[in-house]
This record gives sequence, structure tokens and C-alpha cells, in this order.
Amino acid sequence: MQTVNIATEIKKLVKLQEIDTQLYSLNREKEEKPKILERLQSEFEQKKQILKENEEKSKALLLKRKDKEGQLAVKEEDIKKLQAKLYTLKTNKEYSALLTEINGVKMDKSLLEEEILKMFDEQDGLRQELEKLQIVVKEEEGKFNEEKQKILSRVKEIEAQIADLESKRAVAEKEVDARILSQYNRIIKGKESLALVKVVNDSCQGCYMNVPPQVINEIKMNDKLIFCEMCARILYIPDEPTT
Ligand SMILES: [Zn+2]
Repeated sequence: MQTVNIATEIKKLVKLQEIDTQLYSLNREKEEKPKILERLQSEFEQKKQILKENEEKSKALLLKRKDKEGQLAVKEEDIKKLQAKLYTLKTNKEYSALLTEINGVKMDKSLLEEEILKMFDEQDGLRQELEKLQIVVKEEEGKFNEEKQKILSRVKEIEAQIADLESKRAVAEKEVDARILSQYNRIIKGKESLALVKVVNDSCQGCYMNVPPQVINEIKMNDKLIFCEMCARILYIPDEPTT
């Protein structure tokens, strides 16, 4: 059986893990991007919805005003007819009764006129609001499309980087002893791309728990893989002092 040089294998694993760390963060970024896009889209859609509601409100108000204007025209017509009728009346009693009626219709008419004026004001306010909203929506649309392009091109970039790293990984993997590799691969799955960790100042850099002196000695002996008792990662002592 071929003897395995642990120190050399650790160095290979360090290289492999560098690739895995990059792959991990790229994959996470790739997963995040569509979510960012969705969020931007829903923000933009919300503003579009507000614009739509305001447009509908404005249309409804216009219809209501047209209706009131129709009612006003009827009242004006009524007044004319009643006034014409005044000349046909014989008695003072009939005359004053009709005058009262005319005044009543005139009151209705001026109420309608007030309502219509208010509606004009309301419509002016709405129109200004709509113009502002239209500008906002247009800006948002521009921003959204710009962001979308950026995100899509970043995703393409990420995909290319991932493909490149995966082929590098396949090469780096072949270098590692099969048994050690399978241990490494098993650990890395559950540990967010950190299967191999340094021991710095007697503590594991994966879980920051103290590594007992006996374990440190075992690592230094370099004859088998040593695992952190707390987080189960592979421990190693870097050649260079780490700051
Ligand atoms: Zn640990």
C-alpha cells in the first residue's frame, strides 16, 4: 500500500478548498441574484399599480363630473321652462308658488355647480399627482431594466467562472488521495465550504474552540488527519504564522 504524506495532502486540500470557497460564494451569489431582481420587479410593479389606481380614480371622477354636468344642464332647462311658464299664470298665488319652485331648482343648481367646481379642483390635484407618478414609474422602469441587464450579465459571468473553477476543481481533486478526498468532501457538504481549518493560537479557526495540546501534537506528527473535537473539521497548522 502506498504511504500517504499527510503534510502534502493537506497542502493539496488547501488548494482544493480555495477553489471550493470561491465556488461556494459564486453559487450563493448566483442564487441571490434572481431574488434581487424579483424584489426590484415587485417594487416597480407596486408603483405601476398605484399609477393605475390613480388613473382609474381620475377616470371615475371625470365620469362623475360629466354626470353632474348633465344634471346641471337638466336643472338649467327646468329653470327656463318654469320661467317661461311664469307668463302664462293667472293668479298671484300660482305665480308665487312657481317662483318658490324656481328658487328651489336654482338652489339645486347652485349646489350642483359647487360640487362640479370641487370636482375640478380634485381633478387638478389628481392630474398633478398622476404626472408625478408617471415620471416616477418611468424612472423606476429605467432603473429596473438597467439593473436587470446588470444582473443578467453578472449571472453569465458567474456561470462562466463556476464552469472554469469546476474544471480546475476536477483537476485538483485527482491529485488528492482518494480516502482523504472522500473525508474532505463529506465534511465540506455540511460546513459551508470550510472543511479544512487552521489552528491559530491554539484555537480552531472553524469553531474558535480551544484545541488541546495533545491534539496539537498529533497534528504536528503528520501521520493522519486530525479533526476538531468540536466542529469535526480537519485541522492543520499553517507553515507561515497567521495574523
Ligand atoms: Zn472546530
